[in-house]
Amino acid sequence: MDNIPAGDPRCSSQRQECKAMKNPTLPADLNLQVELPTIMPRSKTRPSVRHTAAQAAIEQDSEIPSLTEQELIERVNQLRKERHAVILAHNYQLPIIQDLADFVGDSLQLSQQAAQTDAPVIVFCGVHFMAETAAILCPDRTVLIPDPEAGCSLAATVTADEVRQWKANHPNGVVVAYVNTNADVKAEADYCCTSSNAVKVVQSIPEDKEILFLPDMFLGLYVQRMTGRKVHLWLGECHVHAGFRAEDIVNALQRYPDADLLLHPECGCVSQCMFALASGDLPADRTFVHSTGGMVRHVRESRTPIHLVATEVGMLHRLSKEAPQKEYIPVKADAICEYMKTITLPKLYRALRDMVYEVRVEEPIRSRARLAIDRMLEIV
Ligand code: SF4
Repeated sequence: MDNIPAGDPRCSSQRQECKAMKNPTLPADLNLQVELPTIMPRSKTRPSVRHTAAQAAIEQDSEIPSLTEQELIERVNQLRKERHAVILAHNYQLPIIQDLADFVGDSLQLSQQAAQTDAPVIVFCGVHFMAETAAILCPDRTVLIPDPEAGCSLAATVTADEVRQWKANHPNGVVVAYVNTNADVKAEADYCCTSSNAVKVVQSIPEDKEILFLPDMFLGLYVQRMTGRKVHLWLGECHVHAGFRAEDIVNALQRYPDADLLLHPECGCVSQCMFALASGDLPADRTFVHSTGGMVRHVRESRTPIHLVATEVGMLHRLSKEAPQKEYIPVKADAICEYMKTITLPKLYRALRDMVYEVRVEEPIRSRARLAIDRMLEIV
């Protein structure tokens, strides 16, 4: 497949949010091995915490609206004991949810925790594909999500039918699916990966194989650059991370020239930053591309007092708890994942009280997806 240069009319009708199209300053040597997309990021809808069915149930509930925050916390703590439940929360969850969780982490860490726990009930405070991953790993446990409408704009960019078609076009291809995918898409993949281990997963695949990487094009570009492998990219993106621009980074560094810059590989500016790093335009000793788990490790170990954080802003709460003596500045203060924020304290309480909403993944999708997830968990 030919490369598609920025602004190419072949993709202009579909690639409404593509950074290569919007930003003609992308470096010419990026060597984008880009597939013509069959469909482009479609989940641009921004859910509102107020308008989900779970939120409506909270508002009509005979008990919950009259409870104070403290009463809700006490009831959550009582019910988690009674039900022998474990509460897992992603780094982007609201601070109060993170504070109540038994474990807070990134996608990989949460998958590992789900696989290891012997608790009969797992309450997953994250988005739906993450709860699905827990259900795939723990079919004998009850996996609950407090709001099943906690979706993911990135996961929604690709369907299982589209992956099957892509594989048919590349019979020598190995499909590497970022964990931000729905279960039926994982079932079509050879490997899953997270932003923590995407590079290692691709490095583990024999050189004579083509890599079909989905759905995040920015993470795929990052993997391509780090491994030197030819990577076919699915042109999906997360609406939160795609909003980061190189200008945001430059402005932040001008304001805080001595800070460490922590950059998530899903960010829309990551390929430009990699180029700027290579050309010396970004400080190589203070620019770090990390998953959210990698950011936590970084601030624990770093001696730098100020960190610029380029990912969803929920991460700042986590970092502040891990290394409270340091200062964290969001590169983009409005980088908020509304899907993650659909999980609220009243919904967490209702999940434990009413045992809703159960997430199940049926066979044969579960077993097939499990293979790809197990390969991900083996390569850490
Ligand atoms: S931040 Fe982006 S990738 Fe993560 S859950 Fe939200 S929409 Fe999905």
